[in-house]
Order: sequence, then C-alpha cells, then structure tokens
Amino acid sequence: MSIKISQLSKNFNQFAALKNIQLSIDDGEFIAILGPSGCGKTTLLRLLAGFLSPTYGKIEIGENEVGTPERSLPPEKRNIGMVFQSFALWPHLSVKEHIRFPILHHRFIPAELKKNADERIQQVLQMVSLEKLSDRMPNELSGGQRQRVALARAIAPKPELLLMDEPLSNLDAELRMEMRKEIQKIHRLTKATIVYVTHDQGEALAMADRIVVMNNGQVEQVGTPAEIYTRPKTPFVAKFVGKANLIEGRWENDLFTPHLSPDIEWPDDGVADEMKYFGCFPVRPEQLYLTKDRNKNDSITGIITSIQYQGKEIHYVVDVSGQEWAVHSSVYDQFQIGEQVFIHIKHAVRKNNLVI
Ligand code: ADP
Ligand code: MG
Repeated sequence: MSIKISQLSKNFNQFAALKNIQLSIDDGEFIAILGPSGCGKTTLLRLLAGFLSPTYGKIEIGENEVGTPERSLPPEKRNIGMVFQSFALWPHLSVKEHIRFPILHHRFIPAELKKNADERIQQVLQMVSLEKLSDRMPNELSGGQRQRVALARAIAPKPELLLMDEPLSNLDAELRMEMRKEIQKIHRLTKATIVYVTHDQGEALAMADRIVVMNNGQVEQVGTPAEIYTRPKTPFVAKFVGKANLIEGRWENDLFTPHLSPDIEWPDDGVADEMKYFGCFPVRPEQLYLTKDRNKNDSITGIITSIQYQGKEIHYVVDVSGQEWAVHSSVYDQFQIGEQVFIHIKHAVRKNNLVI
C-alpha cells in the first residue's frame, strides 16, 4: 500500500507538533521515522492510523484520501496493523487466541482467510517462531516472546500497512538486535509497507529502505541509510545519525577552508550542497587519522585529551584550539594524552555519488 502525505500539519491548541510534512512512501517500502523524543514521530503515526485528524493537509493511503481536516477515516476502516512499545497483550488470551482474534474480527479479512483461520494461525506462529508456545498465556512469556505475540497479532490479518512505534525499546540490548532480524524477516515474508518509528539511529540504519529524519515537527532529510549517513544535508542530521565533527569554515568553488586553519583547502568529497549553506564540513571520526609529524600540508594540529580503547579501534578526543574533535583510529596507532598530533582527512572515493 503506497502512502502520500501532503502539506500535513498538526497543532495541539497553539502548539505546532507537525509542520508541513511532505512524504511519499512506495508500496512495500520499509520506512523508518527517526528523530529525538518529542519531535512528532508518534503524532505522525497516529495521523496515519487515524487516531488523530490533520489540522492542515492530507493523507492518502493507496487510492484513498483517508485524512483531511474535514474528513478522517477511523482506524478500523484503514487496513493497517499496529505494534506499540507497550505490547498491550490481553491477559486472558493465549498466544494462539491473540492471533485468532484479529483473523475473525478484522474488517478487511477475506472470507477465505477466516475459513482457514487455523492454517493462518500456524503460518503466523511460524513467522514469529512461536510454534511451541501457542498455548501459553502472556504472563508465561518473556519480554521478547510477548513482543513477538504483538507482532503476530498485527500481521495475522494480512494488513497492507504495518505501523510500529518504538516496538523494541522495552527490550534489553541483546534481544533488540535479535528482533531487528525478526522484523526484517516479517517484512520480507509479508511484503507489507512498514512505517517504523524509532529514536535509535542504529535501528533505522540497519533495517529501513529509507529513513525520514525528523526534528522539531519537521522533516530534515529523507534518504537511504547510506545517503543519510554519507551525505547529511543539515548539521542536525550529521550529528543525530552517527557521530560527526562539524567543522566550521568557508566554502568556495567546492573547496573548504576551516576557520581554524586558513591555510588549508579540502575538496568537497561529496558533501551535500545543502550542508555548504551552513558553512560546515561534516567529518565522521573514522574519516580522520592522526600522525605525530606534520607529514602533509593539509593537516590540523591539536592535543589529545582523551583515549578510549574499544577493541577494534581507539577513540581519541583531540582539542583543536578549544574545539573537541573525535577521531577513531586503528589500534596500532598509539598516542598519549597531552601529546601534540596532526589530524588528517582520508579523502573519500566517490562512487555513484556516495562516499565510500
Ligand atoms: P515523539 O513520538 O517524537 O516523541 P510526539 O509525537 O509524541 O513525539 O509529540 C510531539 C510533541 O507534541 C510533543 O511536544 C508532545 O508533548 C506534543 N503532544 C503530543 N500529543 C499531544 C496531545 N494530545 N496534546 C498536546 N500535546 C501533545
Ligand atoms: Mg513517540
């Protein structure tokens, strides 16, 4: 099911929670809505589900106009499945009954699916790996198993659109990693369009076909994980997705001169044009390396103020005229706190407009 969101705004009294959102989602796409707490992610999802109606603008799902300020189709008339952070299971229903319920009662279920409910239940149990636990009650399940039941309940009636609001944030770190794979598998098997809300950039980068980065009720950037990571368009996106040093300076003819070191010129290496308007050069810590000697003329000098051993790399913080730069380096380069170092940029190779 494709989705088209046009000029969508939502106010709560005087407060503008969403401002002029434009977004088109293709049938079968996995879209992550990524942004900090309070930026409007849940509000956007509630508008898509039909729990809220727009203050301005419209939402189309498939061929249907489902949400405008004048007319908003209620959630039960939209063919969607939903999974929330709180699993919200029914305490008196077993795993199997959680899956049976929507198959029997969902408005959009084809008669054939209803007739073969038991078959569908088995299929869904298998998709979420709960075959052996089908008769358990919610209080007999672990957190991860409960989340699987919530997922199973949502996908059982074959919705064409699946909305998920931070579905993994109540699980511990290890389980979250495992459930990422489960959700990707469900996407592959169901081919449903998924709109997945998260404040966790790792989840968005790992799972989504495209990421919508939101800030302050607005869309900052839409792109594939690689585009968002390698070509952030705003300082906010560069800082929120991954770690970035935002070096301030002057852009001229696609050459960058940092304010700190006016004798240096860096080629743009694929920095997004939009970013250039902010007078910034975003550099990932892994794009920088350190040397003890000034062996190149494009280096910037600083003093190491922090060293953290991470196993496969070392995280350095380097003080550059009062600014802190993060540099991630291979374990074999050894430096000491207080040592003067030279920072170099690894010039990126450009391939299909993406920096690799
Ligand atoms: P997120 O899910 O990104 O954390 P929300 O969409 O829940 O953010 O909220 C966005 C903003 O809108 C927040 O400042 C929140 O306080 C406000 N908000 C959300 N729902 C309501 C409501 N029903 N009434 C008033 N303010 C609301
Ligand atoms: Mg939320």
